[in-house]
Amino acid sequence: MAGNTGFIFGNALVITIDSERRVIADGAVAVIGDTIVGVGKTDQIRTDFPDLPVHDYSHHIISPGLIDTHVHLSQAMFRALGERNASSDSFHDWLYRLVLPMEGTMTPEDGAASASLCILEMLKSGTTSFLESMTSSNHGFDGIAQVCVDSGIRAALGKVVMDVPPAYRDRVGWPLSAWFEPDQGIAETLAAHKQWNGAANGRIQVWFGCRTADESANPELYRRVAAEARDRDMHLTIHHSELESDNEYARSQGYRSHMDYGYQLGLLGPRSVLTHCTAADSEDIALLASTGTSVANCPANNATVAWGPTRVVEMLEAGVNVALGCDGTASDANMDLLRDLRVLCQVARTRGKSRNSLRAETALEMATIHGARALGIADQVGSLEVGKKADLITIDTDVPHLSPIWNPVASLVFAAQGSDVHTVVIDGKIVVKAREILTMDEAAIIADVKRRMPDIRQRADVPAATPRWRTL
Ligand SMILES: [Zn+2]
Repeated sequence: MAGNTGFIFGNALVITIDSERRVIADGAVAVIGDTIVGVGKTDQIRTDFPDLPVHDYSHHIISPGLIDTHVHLSQAMFRALGERNASSDSFHDWLYRLVLPMEGTMTPEDGAASASLCILEMLKSGTTSFLESMTSSNHGFDGIAQVCVDSGIRAALGKVVMDVPPAYRDRVGWPLSAWFEPDQGIAETLAAHKQWNGAANGRIQVWFGCRTADESANPELYRRVAAEARDRDMHLTIHHSELESDNEYARSQGYRSHMDYGYQLGLLGPRSVLTHCTAADSEDIALLASTGTSVANCPANNATVAWGPTRVVEMLEAGVNVALGCDGTASDANMDLLRDLRVLCQVARTRGKSRNSLRAETALEMATIHGARALGIADQVGSLEVGKKADLITIDTDVPHLSPIWNPVASLVFAAQGSDVHTVVIDGKIVVKAREILTMDEAAIIADVKRRMPDIRQRADVPAATPRWRTL
């Protein structure tokens, strides 16, 4: 197949996100093996690479693949779970009565099934790289890593580590099935790192996946994890500074803020991705910038769960690398990162009361090159440049809502949706073509998840949903 040897995608509108931020009309991208070998006008690229077959992508935008820096693979099984009841549940009820009991009953086969669905959805909507927040021990790391390898996606897999004081566990009713010893979590992470990091031509990374540093966590765990990560040049990710209650907890422990607490634990740094940071103030933002810490902002999820907006504009102005994430579908409902580009701009502009608060170009940078920096792979992906890995997507613009095009970046950010993604290339291999996934069995994955969902609910003894409008 052309994807394995070489090809040219030509006659397209190419958004490069290169250092000059070139947008090329009648442009082309040439690929040999896993690498981009040419980006320019179609005529020139055809002349430079006369032996490569040319695929006609007239009326398409070609963009670097999207990078989702905060994903919960296991939650694909629990789509829109947060809206299951007529009365809205508290965050703790959602977590301890629904999500953790069900995640705790999931087997390795369930874990791989949910990961397959989540990855299928990401690939078909243009996400070519992602960072998993924390795979649970009982979901079977190997099976999930194998799904990543076989699907063709580029993945950084955070393996969960936790150290919950038993008194806290018993007080909140933390299900034992979703409770693991810290030594186990660290040992499993290091073993997974040894086995999988760098697999599949470097597509797979293994990270430490920390939950959150609040009263549910022994701080010694994070000191250990930070030291282990430093020793091995490993990366870590953690939900951090999510809510004002995090700041209150940190102050009760003698720290200025939750960000200061995280800094003192060793959690900040150039190989760390902190998720949400909605409760970060100006001093916290300065700390993020000075330590080179990346932030995963999840604008649509934060709006759905009413956590309030992250101060993205202030962070960007301070020099913080802010990337984007969809978060889990149990709290929000889908993995369409193009949707988040739009929500990101709308939230920032609502806060700033100006169209200039956050421009479409900045949003697309956050979903591409900033995401690549967050994952530590900006030298490989995040832009369309000669010598980088061929991770790209095409968007078919021959549809009513993408016609006509005045500014392709604005059309991509404000008008396109995941289902407009036509072709996806990762590591030089075509994995989606004409909106069809080539590396996965879509019908079998959907049927499998539908079959497993009621079993998981029953095993976890979670009551059926009671929506405001009853189904007769
Ligand atoms: Zn999350």
